[in-house]
Amino acid sequence: MKSQQIRQQFLDFFESKKHEIVPSAPLVLKNDPTLMFVNAGMNPFKEYFLGNSTPKNARIADSQKCLRVSGKHNDLEEVGVDTYHHTLFEMLGNWSFGDYFKKEAIAWAWELLTEVYKIDKDIIYVTIFEGDEQDGLDRDTEAYDFWKQHIAEDRILNGSKKDNFWEMGAQGPCGPCSEIHVDIRSAKEKALTPGASLVNQDHPQVVEIWNLVFMQFNRMADGSLKNLPQQHVDTGMGFERLAMVLQGVTSNYDTDVFKPLIREIETITQTKYGKTTETDVAIRVIADHVRAVSFSIADGQLPSNNGAGYVIRMILRRAVRYGFTYLDKKEPFIYQLVETLASQMGTAFPELKSQKNLITNVIKEEESSFLKTLENGLTLLDRMIDQLKSKKKDILDGAKAFELNDTYGFPKELTRLILSEQGFKMDEEGFNKALKKQQDTSRRASSQETSDWTIVQEDETQEFIGYDQLEAEVKITKYRKVQTQKDGDQYQLVFNMTPFYGESGGQTGDKGYLESPDGDTVYIVDTKKENGENLHITKNLPKQIEGFHKLIVDKGYRAKTSANHTATHLLHQGLRAVLGTHVEQKGSMVRSGYLRFDFSHFSKVSDSELKEVENFVNARIQEQIPLEENRSNTYENAVKDGAIALFGEKYGDVVRTIKFGRSHELCGGTHVANTSDIWHFKITNETAVASGIRRIEAITSDAVKDFFTEQSKRLEDIKKLLNAPNKSSEESIQQMMEENSALKKEIESLKREKAKSFKSELVNSAQNINGINFIAQKIDLDPKSIKDLAFEIDREMENLFMILGAENDGKATLSVILSKNLVKEKDLNAGQIVRELGKFIQGGGGGAPHFATAGGKNPSGITAALDAARGYIV
Ligand code: ATP
Ligand code: MG
Repeated sequence: MKSQQIRQQFLDFFESKKHEIVPSAPLVLKNDPTLMFVNAGMNPFKEYFLGNSTPKNARIADSQKCLRVSGKHNDLEEVGVDTYHHTLFEMLGNWSFGDYFKKEAIAWAWELLTEVYKIDKDIIYVTIFEGDEQDGLDRDTEAYDFWKQHIAEDRILNGSKKDNFWEMGAQGPCGPCSEIHVDIRSAKEKALTPGASLVNQDHPQVVEIWNLVFMQFNRMADGSLKNLPQQHVDTGMGFERLAMVLQGVTSNYDTDVFKPLIREIETITQTKYGKTTETDVAIRVIADHVRAVSFSIADGQLPSNNGAGYVIRMILRRAVRYGFTYLDKKEPFIYQLVETLASQMGTAFPELKSQKNLITNVIKEEESSFLKTLENGLTLLDRMIDQLKSKKKDILDGAKAFELNDTYGFPKELTRLILSEQGFKMDEEGFNKALKKQQDTSRRASSQETSDWTIVQEDETQEFIGYDQLEAEVKITKYRKVQTQKDGDQYQLVFNMTPFYGESGGQTGDKGYLESPDGDTVYIVDTKKENGENLHITKNLPKQIEGFHKLIVDKGYRAKTSANHTATHLLHQGLRAVLGTHVEQKGSMVRSGYLRFDFSHFSKVSDSELKEVENFVNARIQEQIPLEENRSNTYENAVKDGAIALFGEKYGDVVRTIKFGRSHELCGGTHVANTSDIWHFKITNETAVASGIRRIEAITSDAVKDFFTEQSKRLEDIKKLLNAPNKSSEESIQQMMEENSALKKEIESLKREKAKSFKSELVNSAQNINGINFIAQKIDLDPKSIKDLAFEIDREMENLFMILGAENDGKATLSVILSKNLVKEKDLNAGQIVRELGKFIQGGGGGAPHFATAGGKNPSGITAALDAARGYIV
């Protein structure tokens, strides 16, 4: 059975059990600061489990893209080494939100596996939670009894808290689970070792394929468990592992999910999969990682220097590194796999097809820049090895290896490998120490301790009223304290309703204040969105918690932010009008003071194009176009009406559309009532963010006024500086530039004159010592002129040994030149000589045997160095 069909049958089966089928959420959930990447099918539904909101349908099924490379679930080290863990994989899931529970979840899982997929019952084992004393939880006899109705009792095994109690993170929804394992070993192996003894023992052919989680608790910050308001089912089945079982193979990489990629890697690298462990691991790593990186880019998460982007960059670098070391690929090649991936997975995930060019370009660029880094790292490492040799040491300092890794991105494994190839070792302990030190520092900087919510009003879900109102009478429903290193102690308050916009969709959160019934005022410094709720950040708690409080949004701040958000839509429209409809939003930041917009476009936007876009936006502002808003559209209808939806954005059952004339987008942000409220739009910068992605920064309203005021003041200052009342500034500058270039020419010719006179002086000073023409002088020239002069004298004088000292800007230099025949016959070496004489000027240097220079910080040592030079030939 083809994997396409396997996925489809899963969804069809649960549709027949009255589940709504939903598309996968993007890999990065923009509004969940607690997660870097989606690591389990349940993440996008967290707010339902927590009871913060209610889904339209209590039964849902999907195939969710998951990435397990950071945080609690990190499989990166295993990937490629084993045959059943991936970085990116699909998790097939069925969900009950307060609807069915253990009985149906177990019965349907069994029916699907044994009747639809027709998996042999005799290869299946299931596990149930054995209970845990510390948490005060009993063995899950309920699940046991339901399983007993389907499967032989000796195939129901007890599992520990580690395997059979599922938790998303340190805090949050959790519960006992029941796993389904398959034993796909040969009959011979089965006869030797019973399958039951291999369950959950990391055997590559006795693997877990499905986990049924029965969510019923919430893990609190203090470690205790609280019952959730309702009981839920959350299941996750590894799609690639299921394909392995149904396609009768023993490795995920032998399924049709991976085969085309592996074949392509074999072709490009001219290797064969299945020959040696080393190349097999490398091939698997590359096949796996190109998927992770491509899906991330398609979802709008580009490789970068921090956060989720950094993790993506590291995944790609791991792949490049394996290709470099084990498949001997020193040129970019992974980007070539995107074509295969897109044609193979593009039906299920159309974003791969539509963004194919962008993904290819970004990967190619990343690959070539990392290969350069690798080369630089290799040179550095060579130098370190030379030093080890000269010091007769055989272990490279851990701190040095760490520096290679941290500053130059040079992988530790590669350092270790190259060292061992040359008979050296790496100080692993020192490396880990340096790494830990750095991690501790950054952890401390970002550390945050969140206490549990104090509930004031039970069972209240928050209503957002901030599109229409900027003030409201509200009740506090819950609050908690957050201790951060960066901002000190803060409180997060949740109200039954709020006019405050919580940071999301790139738009900054509202500021403002709260007035308590007792007259107390508490400032709200920021508003953040988490699990579908707006959290109001304050420095302290109101003295009175109960009763009605008045919430007031900072109107000026909001108005400027809204102006920037609307301007962002007009800019998007303008870019598509001027540059073409290939322009797609790749990131957006809407602040009160400015806006930033990232978009796909293959070349620099020219000045005239920028002007055209700016004029386009300002024309829309002058047209005074009113806002047309629809808050209760469906996604399908909105898109049909021409509204632009974004890749990598998760849309709910009901969407909101924002229209200003022909600018039409799906958007949850705040906007001005009329484009004239923006006043004016000005682009301040255009740069590249990555290959094929440009960034525009711009300002509106008051910020434009400030901008022009500042600009004209600068112009005035320049005029004053030029001090030419009768000329325009441009004329004066033009004239200065001409004068400047004439002066430069004059200086050059003076320098040449000076060098000429030095030359005859030097030649005349030559002493014949043992047949060698020896010249040692201190001279007043810059290093470049000294070099030119030295080579000129070398051409004219035989058997030359000349050393010149100079002082420039308080620093000393020594230059040594030797006739080529002296290098050979007399065994003299300019590089070695300057290195040794460099001591006199407290510095060092080097170069070729024929010509070399040293620099140092002690000019007073020059004379001594010149004197010492004589020692090489007398
Ligand atoms: P394992 O012990 O094999 O790492 P897990 O306990 O981490 O699995 P769950 O968190 O329960 O797995 O995830 C549900 C299902 O997702 C698993 O039964 C498995 O089929 C699949 N799965 C988990 N991690 C991976 C991965 N890294 N690559 C591919 N599939 C995975
Ligand atoms: Mg795991």
